[in-house]
Amino acid sequence: MKEICHWIDGKEVAGTSGRYADIYNPATGEVQARVALASPEELAAAIASAEKAQVGWAATNPQRRARVMMKLGQLINENMDMLAELVSREHGKTLPDARGDVQRGLEVIEVCMGAPGMLKGEFTDNGGPGIDLYSMRQPLGVVAGITPFNFPAMIPLWKMGPALAAGNAMILKPSERVPSTSIALARLAQEAGLPDGVLQVVNGDKEAVDGILDNPAIQAVGFVGSTPIAQYIYGRAASNGKRAQCFGGAKNHMLIMPDADLDKAADALVGAGFGAAGERCMAISVAVPVGDKTADALIERLIPKIEKLKVGPYTAGDDVDFGPVITKAAQDRINRLIASGVDQGAKLVVDGRQLKIQGYENGFFCGPSLFDRVTPDMEIYREEIFGPVLSTVRAQSYDEALKLVMDNEYGNGTAIYTADGDTARDFASRVNVGMVGINFPIPVPLSYYTFGGWKKSAFGDLNQYGPDAFRFYTKTKTVTARWFSGIKDEGASLNFKAMD
Ligand code: NAD
Repeated sequence: MKEICHWIDGKEVAGTSGRYADIYNPATGEVQARVALASPEELAAAIASAEKAQVGWAATNPQRRARVMMKLGQLINENMDMLAELVSREHGKTLPDARGDVQRGLEVIEVCMGAPGMLKGEFTDNGGPGIDLYSMRQPLGVVAGITPFNFPAMIPLWKMGPALAAGNAMILKPSERVPSTSIALARLAQEAGLPDGVLQVVNGDKEAVDGILDNPAIQAVGFVGSTPIAQYIYGRAASNGKRAQCFGGAKNHMLIMPDADLDKAADALVGAGFGAAGERCMAISVAVPVGDKTADALIERLIPKIEKLKVGPYTAGDDVDFGPVITKAAQDRINRLIASGVDQGAKLVVDGRQLKIQGYENGFFCGPSLFDRVTPDMEIYREEIFGPVLSTVRAQSYDEALKLVMDNEYGNGTAIYTADGDTARDFASRVNVGMVGINFPIPVPLSYYTFGGWKKSAFGDLNQYGPDAFRFYTKTKTVTARWFSGIKDEGASLNFKAMD
């Protein structure tokens, strides 16, 4: 059985806790490897070693740290296929989608190549008579990144890029379901010139996470995952005096106005609803057509497009649209939620539950499902399904549709399809959601903006990547300085004076 180790002090280190988690091949349902789960002692040793390594890294001037990012970017590009294969092998997503996963992480590393500019301080000349003020941004020390299964490359890169470029050391605790990509990235970072110990990949589960949250050397925690865990981690980290930014789950709605281009809207819904088997925090899981005529016309267009989707293992080639979900438990949960939708009166227009793929009968596959006439009280509306299930909630007016989005407890992403600029502008301005798409279904901002949801999709006050990440991973020191009259007033002296 292949064993995935930790990456500590620049090398792979076998686990000593005796605890392991199985890593499945989601397409076959077989266990393909096992990952070591760190004990509190292993974690504490990795943190202590990172603390030592961070001192020299913080003292390395910012442009040298940026050059490590440059080299890392180059190496990620050169190893794109290897990384994508690792992502697909453990996650199950298609190779083109896995390349996108690596690419959107790489783009954050590209911004980190400009870290010195982000780390510049401020200066006020003559804030008082002969008094100057200046501020500097200094790294926090050792920080932690705790990441989910659904983007095995992108989110670890979102965490490590800004944290390391700012001069911190990082303990990265990737999802125990997809640990290999993080180890590969750590190896590339070493090849790029990152000193050993500055990036430690500690594999583990709740025990390792709790160890991170309680260790006094950890200064900040960047988390991405489900909402209940995000809220838990935010609370425990904050009560231990740490900075925390914790990004959680989502229920993303797309409004389809009567004047929208319905063919384009249907294509967008299929891509955003079913891509990566719906396992994206920015997936559109709720379509909100405005008016019954719009709804009927939309559903009519969606059905053939959904029925044409090809589901299969990533190894089956480029005509596969999406792969399996991550675990048997996820598959069972999705099927249970679909059944609850039917029981509670929603209309199941396309039923993906019966999908069987020859040769992959034990894989965690879910076919695409489409619901019509979903109402907000139903479980399928209230729960984040995180699977290939698109729910349609019909609204009779723009205001009713907007209210639906506003009343939802999540606020990660949303989109509107319309031909009317005024409606789009009103929506973008009023909606209480962090990322908005206008005729654009998955509005993940580019890496020089920032990423973050509102409401129960995020806990903490700064977003991921972009300028916010550099604020999160640095602390500000402000100096007020005055110099009393010196050599310019006294003039140079040629006499041999006492040093008093
Ligand atoms: P998860 O919450 O189960 O796990 C995330 C991380 O937390 C993992 O590293 C895991 O080991 C750890 N963890 C799990 N249970 C824990 C516990 N009880 N105590 C301490 N740590 C624990 O999430 P997941 O299933 O890996 O990822 C899917 C979720 O992530 C979805 O809800 C999705 O919407 C969300 N997500 C959000 C964003 C965002 O930016 N908002 C991005 C991607 C994914």
